[in-house]
Amino acid sequence: MDPVSSTTVNRRTDTPHPRKEVIRMSAITHMDPDRRNRRSTSRMVRDHRLRYHNEVNAPPRAPIRTRETIAMPPFSPPTLTPSPTQFPRYSRQTLLATIGRTGQERLASTRVLVIGCGALGGASANLLARAGFGHITLVDRDYVELHNLQRQTLFDEADVAAHVPKAVAAATRLSQINSEIVVTPIVADVNPASIEPLINGVDLIVDGLDNFETRYLLNDAAVKHAIPWVYGGVIGSYGMTMTIRPGESACLRCVFPDAPSAGSAPTCDTAGVLGPTVDVISGLQVAEAMKLAVGATDSLNPGLIAVDLWALSFDRIPVPGPIPGCPACDACQFTYLDSATLNQSTSLCGHDAVQLLITPPVSLDLANLEDRLSRSGETLRNRFLLRFRPAFSGHELTVFPDGRAIIKGTTDPIEARTLYARYIGT
Ligand SMILES: [Zn+2]
Repeated sequence: MDPVSSTTVNRRTDTPHPRKEVIRMSAITHMDPDRRNRRSTSRMVRDHRLRYHNEVNAPPRAPIRTRETIAMPPFSPPTLTPSPTQFPRYSRQTLLATIGRTGQERLASTRVLVIGCGALGGASANLLARAGFGHITLVDRDYVELHNLQRQTLFDEADVAAHVPKAVAAATRLSQINSEIVVTPIVADVNPASIEPLINGVDLIVDGLDNFETRYLLNDAAVKHAIPWVYGGVIGSYGMTMTIRPGESACLRCVFPDAPSAGSAPTCDTAGVLGPTVDVISGLQVAEAMKLAVGATDSLNPGLIAVDLWALSFDRIPVPGPIPGCPACDACQFTYLDSATLNQSTSLCGHDAVQLLITPPVSLDLANLEDRLSRSGETLRNRFLLRFRPAFSGHELTVFPDGRAIIKGTTDPIEARTLYARYIGT
């Protein structure tokens, strides 16, 4: 007998807003500047580390059906320099003394990689293209879906109808915005095997990711190869950003040593995201990218910036340089690049299902997880497992207390990872 067949379907509708308490705390902090000033850097970092682990995460949004349509090319773009006829396009930007003609030329010769073309990555790519970054590479493994349009401003309903990969749709749009730059779309999964070829030859990286596993992988690769990158993350109305220059500033693992364990944090598909917060964080990220490109290092963000647009809280938390003991910066232990730490997925022959193993195993609170997932579909739970059927989806996720999952409705391991990251969180 199926051990869950006698349990009750959970369709809770009275769950309190998960961020209510956090927003209230932020509002108090914002209204009391004296108290705010008394808070030590370490206390603020600790507070935001907690919020990061609890809140900032979002999963990939769609299964992969066309990832092999575009092969990953070696990155060897030509060198661009703005011609005199191109400067009128940027005249309002070159008027800024901090940029000028020389800065514009530097932007034109800068090779920037945007990893993730969803809300943050798409908004950043739009600003990068309009600013005149000469070489923009876009990497994403998903395709456009209707629920993306609320906040992913490079896409439209035609992209949804045609199931266009996000990287391709974004590159098409950017080429219409600025035909004088080189935009390269890559439809691919970012993983330990692919990330080093992807970042080879780029000058800086802008984070448009929506899951912890890949973001820590990016940090490892960027630190290992000394490539600056700008972190950004949004969930709900809350967002954070930090500029990372390997060897010069703290890295992601200096501030947040370990990624939250699988299934421990909400995702955008379970907690939602406020579109305007995406634009604020991406604006900060691209401003930092421009400073990096023109060499304005003295003006860079020296720590962590955290904003909550609903609570109207804006915090700047200074973070000192590389922190002794950091496994990435100090010990050069790039554990997320180590294939031994990869989450393993296996197609279950004849079952239209994929099993995903979480390494190392975690200890999932299935009741908490059910509470989050019950807003996004049907759940069934007993003491052995949690079964979840997302609304408007033909998939079924069965999750076990050690994080292992069986995803039904697909035989594609990457699609299974996407669904796991979307709903369980990695
Ligand atoms: Zn570090």
